[in-house]
Amino acid sequence: MQIQTTAIHALRGFEHHAVIPPVHLASTFALDPATDSGAFAYQRGSNPTRAQLETVLAALEGSEHAFAFASGMAATAAALSTLGVGDEILLPASVYGGTYRFVGQVLPGRGVTGRYVDHLDDLTDEDFTPATRAVFVETPANPTLRITDLRRVIALAHRHGALVIVDNTFMTPVLQKPLDLGADVVVQSATKYLAGHSDLLAGTIATNDEQLAQAYRLAQQAQGGVLSPQDSFRLIQSLKTLPLRLERQQANADAIVSHLRGHEDIAAVWSPGSHSEHEARLHASQASGRGAVLSFELAEGLDRVTFLQALRYPVYAVSLGGVESLICRPATMTHEAMTPQARAAAGISDELLRLSVGIEDLGDLLADLDQALAASRIR
Ligand SMILES: *Cc1c(COP(=O)(O)O)cnc(C)c1O
Repeated sequence: MQIQTTAIHALRGFEHHAVIPPVHLASTFALDPATDSGAFAYQRGSNPTRAQLETVLAALEGSEHAFAFASGMAATAAALSTLGVGDEILLPASVYGGTYRFVGQVLPGRGVTGRYVDHLDDLTDEDFTPATRAVFVETPANPTLRITDLRRVIALAHRHGALVIVDNTFMTPVLQKPLDLGADVVVQSATKYLAGHSDLLAGTIATNDEQLAQAYRLAQQAQGGVLSPQDSFRLIQSLKTLPLRLERQQANADAIVSHLRGHEDIAAVWSPGSHSEHEARLHASQASGRGAVLSFELAEGLDRVTFLQALRYPVYAVSLGGVESLICRPATMTHEAMTPQARAAAGISDELLRLSVGIEDLGDLLADLDQALAASRIR
């Protein structure tokens, strides 16, 4: 079954021959007095609607286990809940801002150290110590779109007994499946492409490891940051169009990258694989597409604020993956929690703009970018 079919038909057979699943709002479920057990007991532990979503997520990922959380950060926090006193985790300098905040402000209180590496592809055996328990990967990186060799990092980490956790938010299982390459855990902010309409906050974890799955089940039960039945249902519905949306978003993004590259008003354009031939080959070997996020800098002589004000369609806002195009300035928005030095190390300049391309008509998007560029030339 191809992924677009899985997205539609992973769940079958509902009461009354309904073609979509019901929403079960119950917080508690009757138990058998003889055994004090039942398929479900209390909504936090599990409930039929979240369980159905988790079935769809596992089917899309091709994983043994999947878990739905109330946000991407709740999922990331759960994925990092297996680390304890004395443990160390390696992360790329350009890691998602919320993850950076969690690693810097929450993990130290648990005795866990986060150590940053400018670019994970430069990782060597010397970077690992006996305390290194995990490597956290984002490829493509945000917003630089630099590529990390997943197979290489996985082999290196496993040689040192460290877990590999991949934040796959930018690619989704439609374009990249890190578990198939040997990664231990995949986390995603479902708020982005999986939900796809900028109308819901959610996070997911997928793994094939039974022991890790138990830890994530415990995180749901003990920390309680689970997805509600209503949002679980809405995410099941959104996932049905994920491959379709992404296909259109990616086609639009590819065309916009081609249009901006070599444009006299643009100083630089970045997309997955654009940094070098090597990264292009690498990305093509581990993902089936470039996704729909790109970043660029305006040429000298253009005014950034005027450009952003002149845009008619891309909304100036954080987040990504929605059907509407979104544009932001990472240095002051998504990555403002990082120190200026950390941003510089990650290659995030103050002028860099990140564009998440939506499903609008391509001609309209190109014409809009061109008129905004023309309007922002300082005469
Ligand atoms: C948005 C995002 C997160 C956090 O997800 P929330 O749903 O906002 O909590 C984590 N990783 C990446 C790459 C993201 O873009």
